[in-house]
Amino acid sequence: MENYSIIIPSYTVGPDAYRDIPRYCRLYGKTAVVIGGQKAMAAAKEKLLAAIQDSDLSINAFLWYGEEASYEASAVLEADPHLQEADMIFAVGGGKAIDTAKLAALHTGKPFFTFPTIASNCASASSVAIIYHPDHSFREFVHYLDTTRHVFIDTEIIAKAPIEYLWAGIGDTCAKYYEVTISARGEVLPHYLAMGVHMSRMCMEPLVIFGEKALNDNRQGIASYELEQCALAIIITTGWVSMLVSRDHNMLYNGGVAHALFYSLCSLPGFEKDHIHGVVVGFGILMQLAIDKDFEELEKFSAFNRRIGLPTSFDEIGISLEDLEKVTDLIIADEDVEHFPYPITREQILEAAEYLGISRDTPLMKDGRHTIL
Ligand SMILES: [Zn+2]
Repeated sequence: MENYSIIIPSYTVGPDAYRDIPRYCRLYGKTAVVIGGQKAMAAAKEKLLAAIQDSDLSINAFLWYGEEASYEASAVLEADPHLQEADMIFAVGGGKAIDTAKLAALHTGKPFFTFPTIASNCASASSVAIIYHPDHSFREFVHYLDTTRHVFIDTEIIAKAPIEYLWAGIGDTCAKYYEVTISARGEVLPHYLAMGVHMSRMCMEPLVIFGEKALNDNRQGIASYELEQCALAIIITTGWVSMLVSRDHNMLYNGGVAHALFYSLCSLPGFEKDHIHGVVVGFGILMQLAIDKDFEELEKFSAFNRRIGLPTSFDEIGISLEDLEKVTDLIIADEDVEHFPYPITREQILEAAEYLGISRDTPLMKDGRHTIL
């Protein structure tokens, strides 16, 4: 038996979450450099400065992360004297700015703190960074990074973000539960893996309960309890689950049909440009449930998708039977379904698609968006 450690990042959430900054950051020095997106830094700047006003902490610069979460963007930041002089990094923004800051932290050995300004993904609380080339094509996942020392979720800032982020974040986050649990079906797991699998239910349940209200509140810019619960599911729970289930240096439990479907459809020309990841993945959950013949859960989740305007049929994402037939082999071979409890067949995929509503002719609707936006 070997020793091992599990590290799960702590967090502060609420309408004034940044006031805890001095308490959690003072242990790491006196100077912070902010790395973020332009809009995110504009949304957070005043509150960040107010939070450290009466403390020993100071911010020496607000640095734009760059145009893409890339090694090249990180190198520019690492060469910046403000970053070199700072004791710690404050990563502010959505996924890409946070991931770029994580790389810069990794390369410079500086501790970092995360300040998500949208509730759309778990970049702030996970130990993986999704890295792209400067031309925006996908490059690689960088796993097992140091985690943030603390996540600060200001719900007033989250409430003012465009609703699209939360909407897509809900679909992607719910998929975590369905994909992790089916991947682990029938297995007796060690403590941390079992914790991650059981915890994944909290990626789905609060969103189904509070999601509709949270979206309405987001539309009106209200930092409500329901919005807070959804932000926690999307940012924190998913980050924790991802860290627990991927500790073994493999991604066995992290994927499923919902993601395999999205990535396979991305091989069709123009699909990725017209569709939002989390929206298609939210629909892909129905595909997985249909393949698994769990029709009771499928009807339940389909009703939820309808309530919040996520697609419930292939017609709604503009995918015809002909399109799907082109990608069935890709779905079957996708690494997201490598650890599925049974091999997926072409027949299962086509049968499930028929159940969900797929036409032979290419439907008119191309972006899968409903009236909610
Ligand atoms: Zn996803």
